[in-house]
Amino acid sequence: MEIKKGIGVSPGVVISTAVVLDAEDLVIPRRTIAPEDAGAETQRLGNAIAESVVHLAKLRDEVTAKHGKEIGNIFEFHLGILKDKSILKQITTEITQKFSTAEYAVSVVMRRYANMFTQMSNSYLSERVKDIHDIEKSLLRNLIGQKREDLAHLKQDVIVIAHDLLPSQTAALDKLHVKGFATDVGGRTSHTAIVARAMGIPAVVGLVNVTAEVSGGDTVIIDGNRGVVIINPDVDQLAEHREMERKLEALEIQLHELRELPAITKDGHTVSLQANIEFPNEVDDAVKHGALGIGLYRTEFLYLSQDTDPTEEDHYNAYAEALRRLHGKPLVIRTLDLGADKYREDKSGAAQQERNPFLGDRSIRMCLHDIPMFKRQLRAIMRASVLGDVRIMFPMISTLMELRQAKMVLNDVLEEMEEEDIPFRREIPLGIMIEVPSAALMANNFAKEVNFFSIGTNDLIQYTLAVDRTNERVAGLYTPAHPAVLQLIRDVIRAAGRNSIGVSVCGEMAGEPLYTLLLLGLGLTTFSMNGPDIPEVKKIIRSTTMEHARFVARKVMSFDSERQVMHFLRDQTRKIIPEAF
Ligand code: PEP
Ligand code: MG
Repeated sequence: MEIKKGIGVSPGVVISTAVVLDAEDLVIPRRTIAPEDAGAETQRLGNAIAESVVHLAKLRDEVTAKHGKEIGNIFEFHLGILKDKSILKQITTEITQKFSTAEYAVSVVMRRYANMFTQMSNSYLSERVKDIHDIEKSLLRNLIGQKREDLAHLKQDVIVIAHDLLPSQTAALDKLHVKGFATDVGGRTSHTAIVARAMGIPAVVGLVNVTAEVSGGDTVIIDGNRGVVIINPDVDQLAEHREMERKLEALEIQLHELRELPAITKDGHTVSLQANIEFPNEVDDAVKHGALGIGLYRTEFLYLSQDTDPTEEDHYNAYAEALRRLHGKPLVIRTLDLGADKYREDKSGAAQQERNPFLGDRSIRMCLHDIPMFKRQLRAIMRASVLGDVRIMFPMISTLMELRQAKMVLNDVLEEMEEEDIPFRREIPLGIMIEVPSAALMANNFAKEVNFFSIGTNDLIQYTLAVDRTNERVAGLYTPAHPAVLQLIRDVIRAAGRNSIGVSVCGEMAGEPLYTLLLLGLGLTTFSMNGPDIPEVKKIIRSTTMEHARFVARKVMSFDSERQVMHFLRDQTRKIIPEAF
């Protein structure tokens, strides 16, 4: 048995069998399969080789046509290796006699060959070692790729173990069978973590080398509440976690009963609890958890979930679907927040070229650099505005000029639509995310130019504290409880109040029970969070008074360290909802 501590990013306790995905550039650890699976594993190998052969033959033909036969022949060598009977026999023997996974068998045999070539005195042949590595990678890519695709069509329950998962890969996981996942890297508010929470899949990230320590077929416990992963648990651990699993399910049922009740304090203050979504079909689940509307629709997932850029029609259909499911409840459509950790797998090259992706060409900046793309989305939003309560929100605004430019593009769109006689609702509320310290500090100025603010604490924390939200190595420094972050939040809420505009928090902090009393006491009236978090937050609101929440906020704002803040909030919240701690 081995117990590993990481960062719990999505709550819940699950016990199941591991499937391990390897990253291409990692050493493939030794893993075994059950003897009866050797046939299927050999078949996977055969498929991977066939795929590589097709790919290489195509490449050879293209290169030959472009650069001549001599260069094209390089790939003849690759094809020769792939068709070499003795190599194939060695790999197959690893699988059928030593019961290694196909990945491990490929890497062992290919590395043996690479070593042999390195030692050759003939410089032509010793140079071929790079080609061998290339072939190994191509086969591993196919094998791992197949597994990633297989994840969408699982027949039994599994726990996914991976070096990393892209937000789009996480969103594509089969929720019915993927009971949980654990990764080597990642942080609490990475978009992968956010998607896991939204889908209700327990997850632990930032485990450093969990991919090397778990083998496919191992029994694994994921404890997303405590950030713990237990590999091959003993009988006692299994019993303890089964009991925990049961208790959490019971709590869930109990909280579910709050669904129809309003989020009102004991002394009569009502707040609005809304949900964050990535896809329109999440609306039903959000409403089921008691959401009064969608406070943040992360529309960039439209780009992440398909291979080609969405058309105006794709945008429109998604918004129309969300509105139809909402039956008149409000929908805050955030314009594209692409870039940083949100990119398509096929565009990962572009993302890597950003030297500092979170400070680079992301979000509203990217939209203002690509006006046709931005307009496509704005037109679709305005067309959908006649179907329900639509509100527009611009992300990552850092200067007034940026806001004014974005508004100008929107005005252009409205003029064009007017000329084309396309109906839209002119008076729709326009807001911005406050997630960059410069915007938080100038909230009073911004408040004069918009109808509402939504505080994006996920980014506000990383930009205020200079801590990458996706980096497990600095995750200990990433906290909403830092007094500097809290001061900014307090001041933004005050500026909104002074200027009589709406204000919400839509970062993960809004759904963390630990901060409910504080945010309530600071005067927040709208909270937008992952649907499953709503009942617990509602329970706290319904169990306290505004007077008490204000006392908590005053006290917290007098502290100068995050430790004091956390201790105090934990004490106060534990009194209301002990099961959460
Ligand atoms: C935020 O930054 O708090 C936010 C809600 O936006 P995202 O997590 O999509 O960056
Ligand atoms: Mg953000």
